[in-house]
Amino acid sequence: EQRSTRFMDIGFIGLGNMGQPMARRLIQAGHKLVVYDTRNDAVAPLVAMGAQLASSPADVADRVETVMASLPSLQISEKVTTGEGGVIHGKRIKRFIDLSTTGSRVAAKIAAALAKKNIVQIDSPVSGGVGGATKGTLAVMVSGPKAEIDLVKDALAVFGKVFVIGEKPGMAQTMKLANNFLSATAMAATSEAVAMGVKAGLDPAVMIDVINAGSGRTTASDGKFPQAILPRTFNYGFATALMLKDVRLCFDEAKALNVPSAVMNAVLDQWETTNAEYGGDSDFTAIVKMIEKRAGVIVGTEKKR
Ligand code: NAD
Repeated sequence: EQRSTRFMDIGFIGLGNMGQPMARRLIQAGHKLVVYDTRNDAVAPLVAMGAQLASSPADVADRVETVMASLPSLQISEKVTTGEGGVIHGKRIKRFIDLSTTGSRVAAKIAAALAKKNIVQIDSPVSGGVGGATKGTLAVMVSGPKAEIDLVKDALAVFGKVFVIGEKPGMAQTMKLANNFLSATAMAATSEAVAMGVKAGLDPAVMIDVINAGSGRTTASDGKFPQAILPRTFNYGFATALMLKDVRLCFDEAKALNVPSAVMNAVLDQWETTNAEYGGDSDFTAIVKMIEKRAGVIVGTEKKR
């Protein structure tokens, strides 16, 4: 049985923390890329690898049938897709694959607008962070028309494990929000738990080891704390503004569906405070500093100041 990888011409818009390593993996897998980002330093490394540089999202969509995007905010996603100079104005584009987290409402809105120009929207939010994007071990959640998904599945598999969630626009977004709410909750809760222990005299490194061997283990305790919090580098690679966006979208979605959201509300509050005090550009591990300030302790290997 022969299975040939289909090499595609792919447009890639938004080459930031996630888009950069994902685009690199596509090139390494043999696909031809046309790239665009508002920052020159974001496109330069890919151009050096052979990607073509486009001058706008519409220019990308003039050159290829398949366009992917990894963008930081809902407003920017709307602008890049349906705004002035957006992909909707491209002459060749047939499908738009959104790797960004936008929530199901914005995804459905963009899908409907693009459909008017016979452009198919495929939602494909991802989870697994910059590390997963670099290694190709992301969870890739896809929703859209089955035949279209089949066409791009091989290319998406370069990013990690592909999960087809459903046909309706936005379904993969709902999946992604459920996942990120849990990730956000683990960060907020682990921060409180470890701060409590440190204030009572426990060693935070020992706490994290115990939690990771026990039932409290999460991606916060086995990833973020040992990598970016205990060493106090606070550089995990995900912005506070993006975490806040995800939790807010999740809370809105639960409310719209009339599902209890008390935990979501409490977690949202913690991210709003972190965003207000450390700024949206701060790494999301800053939530620990927000808790430390109130607890009057420092969580980390150099715990006494
Ligand atoms: P980022 O801010 O690092 O990257 C976004 C990129 O988009 C930047 O390079 C920026 O210059 C570019 N950009 C901004 N406006 C633009 C425009 N008008 N046209 C073209 N490019 C533009 O963000 P990120 O961390 O890479 O996240 C991207 C998306 O992936 C977000 O939706 C985020 O929620 C999601 N996500 C991020 C992570 C993570 O760990 N960082 C994990 C999963 C999902």
